[in-house]
Amino acid sequence: MPRPIQATIDAQALRHNLAQIKSTAPDALVWAVVKANAYGHGIERVFEGLRAADGLAMLDLSEAELVRRLGWRGPILLLEGAFETRDLELCSRLNLWHVVHCEAQIDMLAVHKTHQAQRVFLKMNSGMNRLGFAPAAFRAAWTRLNALPQVDEISLMTHFSDADGDKGIAQAMSLFSKYTQDLSGERSLSNSAAVLRHGKELNVRADWIRPGIALYGSSPDDPLHSAQDWSLKPVMSLNAEVIGVQHLQTGDTVGYGSAFTADRPLRIGVVACGYADGYPRSAPTGTPVCVDGIRTRTLGRVSMDMITVDLTELPDAGIGSEATLWGRPQKSSGVGVSIDEVARSAGTVGYELMCALSARVPTQTLSPL
Ligand SMILES: *Cc1c(COP(=O)(O)O)cnc(C)c1O
Repeated sequence: MPRPIQATIDAQALRHNLAQIKSTAPDALVWAVVKANAYGHGIERVFEGLRAADGLAMLDLSEAELVRRLGWRGPILLLEGAFETRDLELCSRLNLWHVVHCEAQIDMLAVHKTHQAQRVFLKMNSGMNRLGFAPAAFRAAWTRLNALPQVDEISLMTHFSDADGDKGIAQAMSLFSKYTQDLSGERSLSNSAAVLRHGKELNVRADWIRPGIALYGSSPDDPLHSAQDWSLKPVMSLNAEVIGVQHLQTGDTVGYGSAFTADRPLRIGVVACGYADGYPRSAPTGTPVCVDGIRTRTLGRVSMDMITVDLTELPDAGIGSEATLWGRPQKSSGVGVSIDEVARSAGTVGYELMCALSARVPTQTLSPL
């Protein structure tokens, strides 16, 4: 028998989330962001569930090749653009659209030999200070691109630093608007947080939106809003089984470093999931977990292959019981545990947990109906 741990990818939930986002921005085209192997879900597993997207966006050229191989004929956008001149050959061959965020990428285009002009997304740095042209340099970059025979249509984009937080997007929006107002071309501005929190402003969801995390059913602004608040359903579930049971006396400790001490007699279960599976080692005692669909808590330190959970109030649970680390139980009823709650407890975000699901975890796909 394989080690009793399994991840489940629910393509139906993915479809639901995509439809949900589309209903929030009904007039926008949707880039479904599938970078980082679809946020850890596996591009091949999410592909069918994202058929209704208008385009697929990622960073890795190998992922672009994969979705073309899978039969995607629609637009593909490389969010970091070309890394070297040779990448533009692949863009020509596979008809990839790509971001241009710096002069070096314009230089690459200028020496690229092609018969087919390429569609580019010119990126403005609106305050994130990672990639993009400074607002004041944007027009010159646009003019330079526009003069190149290698370049077809130029779209305009930016990426908000604070769509999920208090600062919001007003400042970035006004910079972007000011420096692009008389430039032609489609616009692409909004990630999940911008669409969900600020999507009522028409210019925010203009032309192309770029949701990632919301597609996968995690809230972009937890704890302000839960995934449920946004009507999103979890796509990834991680379940394992209880493989051992221990009875603790008051004063007994659990796991490495004796990080947890029983303050009363406790019955505990050992679950076949650890940080080598992608469960965060930083999750402290008290992190929510479900056993047989009932909520309880973790105890002590997460180790490489195991975690320990409190079964004191779950007298029917024992060896073979299903433990839901995040997402939905597969064998029992019950709502499960949101990945965002686990992430919050561990001091991180849902993004990081889903991306870190380990390759050793067997994964099944629940197909769309
Ligand atoms: C990752 C990414 C997105 C998606 O962001 P979410 O917060 O996951 O919705 C959108 N745009 C760019 C440029 C990105 O890199």
